[in-house]
Amino acid sequence: MILSEKTASQLSALYKEKKCAPDETLKSLGEAVRAKDARTRAYIQFDPSRARRRDVSKDAPLWGVPIAVKDNICVADEEITCASKILQGFISPYHATVIEKLLAAGAVICGRTNMDEFAFGSSCETSFYGPTRNPRDPGRVPGGSSGGSAACVADHTAIAALGSDTGGSIRQPASLCGVVGIKPTYGRVSRYGLVAFASSLDQIGPITKDVRDAALLLGVLAGHDPKDSTSANLPVPDYPEVLGRPIKGMKIGIPREYLSSGSGQSGISPAVQKAVREDAVRVLERLGASCREVSLPHTAYAASTYYIIAPSEASSNLARFDGVRFGFRHRGGKNLLEMYEKTRGEGFGAEAKRRIILGTYSLSSGYYDAYYLRAMKVRTKIKNDFDEAFKQVDVLLTPTSPSTAFKLGEKSTDPVEMYLSDIYTISANLAGVPAISIPCGIEERAGKPLPIGLQFMAKPFDEAALFQVAHAFEQHTDFHKKLGNVKE
Ligand code: GLN
Repeated sequence: MILSEKTASQLSALYKEKKCAPDETLKSLGEAVRAKDARTRAYIQFDPSRARRRDVSKDAPLWGVPIAVKDNICVADEEITCASKILQGFISPYHATVIEKLLAAGAVICGRTNMDEFAFGSSCETSFYGPTRNPRDPGRVPGGSSGGSAACVADHTAIAALGSDTGGSIRQPASLCGVVGIKPTYGRVSRYGLVAFASSLDQIGPITKDVRDAALLLGVLAGHDPKDSTSANLPVPDYPEVLGRPIKGMKIGIPREYLSSGSGQSGISPAVQKAVREDAVRVLERLGASCREVSLPHTAYAASTYYIIAPSEASSNLARFDGVRFGFRHRGGKNLLEMYEKTRGEGFGAEAKRRIILGTYSLSSGYYDAYYLRAMKVRTKIKNDFDEAFKQVDVLLTPTSPSTAFKLGEKSTDPVEMYLSDIYTISANLAGVPAISIPCGIEERAGKPLPIGLQFMAKPFDEAALFQVAHAFEQHTDFHKKLGNVKE
């Protein structure tokens, strides 16, 4: 029995039966990291001797389950860098609320995972520490920005991990690595202690080996937090309880604009198109769901809207990194201004600079109305599209990403090409709705099994519907087993 290869729920059962203990799981993970992380570089830091845990009842839902954390979520007294030079040496002064919740639920925080710098990216190549590689094929990217979190879960060097998702950063890497990732509804999970990227879009969520673990973890993470005024004061359903409920009669919408080739979204690969539009639909219908086309007419504007709003908010959020309070400071500037300039010039990578410049431009006087304000209006239209669609159907079905994992370097020289890998994920952030990615196919490329992911989206705060349909699909297709995520 290899404990690092277990899911959280399998581990809980083993602990209850006294077949193993949390320290043995940590030890097993340590061995897995030593054997495999040099290949993927999923971790920025993994150190079982620094693992955080609290003395809580063994009945706590995640008792003894090690969880890896993306390097933009604060763990008190640990370094946090967002994979950027500019934060080198900065120590988190407190725990993020999600960390408090995990510790209270008995989880063990065991390491910090690699990411695109400040979560800007879809490939995990913009990290100051160097890229993470996809465990399914190390010549390919794991996706981003939570690439380290998805890679370590897929590689069994973590049991589960936390990611953050502003435009797809949980779902797209989950898809490319062949694991499960959910972006909760905006407001479902507290962002207190998450380093802000775009505050009107950011959410924290789990990346796991199967749907059950995603339900288990979100149940722990979700809920109102007085420290985050955007967190919603709504009850959190018992998510694991919906697993196994039949989906007979469930109405599933397929947005026409996401799959038709003539809509400007033509980058979809034939393998993805077939796995989602044909194979997945057939499975869902066999399970008694009814699938029909719906329209989200403003889909074609989502990417341009997102790439105005997200960089605008990022440019404002990143203004605080100037060498005074956080991390890296250029020494030797002649005056304060030069210290700021050199610190930011040397501290930020190329993509961070691109976003700051783009965002500053679209927020500047004279351009604000033409860009930012206009983008906010289009965002409302995109949100209205979802409201209309959810009058007709319970959930929406789309691909997560237009292609399987691409090669390292393949898109890193062309920012627009990179931005287009998010076309299916960013709308959920703009509309604030919850969305999950789960494996739905495998594309063989040069003998390597590259996972294909499908995305379900639901009405705000209806994550339960996502778990219900995703679990039914998973149990019926078994991709979680075919990909080796879950072993008996
Ligand atoms: N890839 C998208 C971007 O670069 C989304 C990133 C994210 O969700 N953090 O902005």
